[in-house]
Amino acid sequence: MLTLKKTIFSLLLLYPIWTHSQDTFRKDVFLMGCDFDITVVADNEAEAQGFIHLAISEIKRIESLISSWSSSSQTSHINRMAGKEPVVVDPELFQLIERCIQISKSTDGAFDISYASIDHIWKFDGSITKAPNKEEIKSSVKYINYQEIVLNPAQSSVFLKTKGMKIGFGAIGKGYAADKAKELLVSKGGQAGIINASGDMNAWGTQPNSEPWQIAITNPLNKNKVFARLPLKNRSVVTSGNYEKFIVLDGKRYSHIIDPRTGWPCNGLASVTVLAPKAELADALATSVFVMGIEAGLDRINQIPNVDCIIIDDQGGIHKSAHIEIESL
Ligand code: ADP
Ligand code: MG
Repeated sequence: MLTLKKTIFSLLLLYPIWTHSQDTFRKDVFLMGCDFDITVVADNEAEAQGFIHLAISEIKRIESLISSWSSSSQTSHINRMAGKEPVVVDPELFQLIERCIQISKSTDGAFDISYASIDHIWKFDGSITKAPNKEEIKSSVKYINYQEIVLNPAQSSVFLKTKGMKIGFGAIGKGYAADKAKELLVSKGGQAGIINASGDMNAWGTQPNSEPWQIAITNPLNKNKVFARLPLKNRSVVTSGNYEKFIVLDGKRYSHIIDPRTGWPCNGLASVTVLAPKAELADALATSVFVMGIEAGLDRINQIPNVDCIIIDDQGGIHKSAHIEIESL
């Protein structure tokens, strides 16, 4: 009798799985100055739209917190008060800045949100037509220094010590938004999906057929050619490259990633792809490796558990971190 009861119980538990087949639903939307592609697995269109709507509102919320373009954001307020006084901010922004400083420390300053102190010189919107003056860069690069960002945890305040300093989250914001949107959907019962912020993505769960999500990595120097595939199981993957956002001045190509030591854009690599448990970390590290270069970058990645990296140099050469398992094609 007991066995029978148990059998009926387990049949009831299985019932929803037999009758509901799940599907994948996608939406493209322009947020944070880039294309987001939101994929969710849901029972029906209405449920999927609910999840997508939640993800969009979460990304918009983060954008209004961290954007340095919008003058009303807390980030802009911190920048306006540089050299004047500390600014009390939401704990969420405070903690993000705290993590950014940690990443700066662990990358010997290759990643530095105060790179933005020089973003009035390096504009990637087509408005500059000739290479900036070396002296101008020299006099501005001194404002890039994460050690001059003063955090006061008791007040939840942030102070940029010197007038002229500025912070920006261009190298970590999309990854952070992808993580937060995913977290929200998981907390609301979203079983699987991918938040893809123009190639910076966080995936969870599996496809409706129980297969893991698969990503293809292309060589930026030959975009039509996929050179590796790998499954993405509760993991994030982010690519930083010089092939999408760059400027050409006097015949020379300048990437949008700035070396905080010199104030000049970094050269030598075509793309850096980082895999990590969270997109925020992957995003920040992809930018850092771009600055650190092949040898120092891979050396640092090899020391971080659960983080992998693939670099394509500007000659098309492929360099991988020590523990990565990819299916090469
Ligand atoms: P993408 O925007 O293509 O995903 P990244 O994540 O590498 O690329 O971010 C590059 C952006 O990060 C730049 O456009 C700029 O806003 C900012 N940035 C540039 N150099 C640095 C740096 N050394 N540290 C932190 N942020 C940077
Ligand atoms: Mg980045």
